[in-house]
Order: sequence, then C-alpha cells, then structure tokens
Amino acid sequence: MQKLKLLYEGKAKKVYETPDADLLIQEFKDDATAFDATKRGTIAGKGVVNNKISARIFELLDTKGVATHFVKLLSDRDMLIKKVKIVPLEVTIRNIVAGGMSKLLDIEEGRRLKTPVLEYHYKEDKLHDPLINDYHIRALELATDAELEEISSSSFTINEILRRFFEEKNLILVDFKLEFGRHKGRILLADEISPDTCRLWDKATNEKLDKDRFRRDLGNVEEAYQEVYRRVLG
Ligand code: UDP
Repeated sequence: MQKLKLLYEGKAKKVYETPDADLLIQEFKDDATAFDATKRGTIAGKGVVNNKISARIFELLDTKGVATHFVKLLSDRDMLIKKVKIVPLEVTIRNIVAGGMSKLLDIEEGRRLKTPVLEYHYKEDKLHDPLINDYHIRALELATDAELEEISSSSFTINEILRRFFEEKNLILVDFKLEFGRHKGRILLADEISPDTCRLWDKATNEKLDKDRFRRDLGNVEEAYQEVYRRVLG
C-alpha cells in the first residue's frame, strides 16, 4: 500500500492517505514532546519500537474481541489503519497512582488503587486536555450514550487484557491513555498503545520504563524503550 497525501502531522506520528479511501498509513516518528509540547526532543528508535509494540497489542486485542483500527504492519515505522473520525476524548485508565492523579489529589506515586480509575480528558491542546466527566460529554454531544458505554466498557476490558499481558513480561501497567474513533458506524480503538502512552514499571525494581524517563530527565530513555520492545516482542 502506497503513501499518498500527508493528511495530518502530529507530535509523534504522521498520517497519510492511501489509494483506498477507507485506509490510512500511520507513520511513527522518533520525535517526543511533553508538557503540552513545551519540552521537545527525539528518542532514537522510538518510532520503530512504538509501531511494533502497538501492532503486537492491537493484534492481541483483536484476538480478544476488541475492535481496533489496526489492519497490518507495513514496515518498521508504518502501519495500515482504518480511517476513523477521532472522538475528541483521551480516556485514561489508572491502576496505580502516578502523574496527573498524584498531582491533582496530592497522593504519593505508587499507591495501588482498590479499583481501576477511568478518566475522560477533553482532547483540546489549547485547553491542556482538561478533565471532564460523562455529563460534560453527553451535554456537549462529544459522544452519544451508546458510544460512551462502548468506550468505557471497552477501556476496562483492555485494561484487564493488557495488565495480564504486561505482567507476563514482568512489567506493571500503572496507567495508560486510549483514543477511540468512529468508522462506518462503529467505535474502534485508535491511535497507539506504546511506552509513549502507557506507564510501565519493572515488576522487580519499579524502575520506570516509559516516557516518564524523557519527561523527567531520568536518563537511559532509548534503553528503556528498547527494553520494553525486547520484553513485548522477544
Ligand atoms: N498520556 C498520554 N498522552 C497525553 C497525556 C497522558 O499518552 O497527552 C498517558 C501517560 O503516558 C500516562 C497516562 O496517559 O500513561 C496518564 O497520564 P497523566 O494523566 O498522569 O498525565 P501526565 O502525568 O502524563 O501529564
């Protein structure tokens, strides 16, 4: 499948049209940003790692009955995806307190939550993706009741599947972010699932093996991405 017009360029990915109007190519870049793109850099090899990890996870979810936009891996940095209209929500699931929740509620990072927490953030960079709830979503018609039910139940299912998957790789799934899109009247899981969008801690040492190494200048950023790659695909 051939890349035609560049449709969109985001912080970590480019999306191209293809000869098939229903299909797009998603290309993963090494560029990294944090804190609303006020911090910028590159993580060598990240695009390859995130493309292949995402593909592996989308395939896994597909076998478990979760509908995703993934069609197939095309190359080191490219995957073929179904064209979706993104629902303007970032869905976060948390198993352990970290990052935004630690700050918001002044709770120390690392506290295991009694039950997973689902958060919706309105996907709008200029507002810094504010936390909203299902009443906002319905009132502002960001998604219908049926779509929201599908998105939330699918997010919890994905959490159970991924928690177990990463556990087998000696990784703790602390939290992660999902995006969904509409395709021919259906809701599909979209975007990516990678160390850019998940917090992953080593099970034995709690060492951070995700984008927090870049956000917080912890060093060994490339090594952490490669380590997750080895564990997930090795
Ligand atoms: N996340 C993401 N994109 C964003 C914001 C968050 O992929 O724009 C992921 C992040 O990597 C983490 C989870 O969502 O795994 C929860 O992030 P949080 O709300 O704690 O925000 P952060 O601390 O990253 O600002």
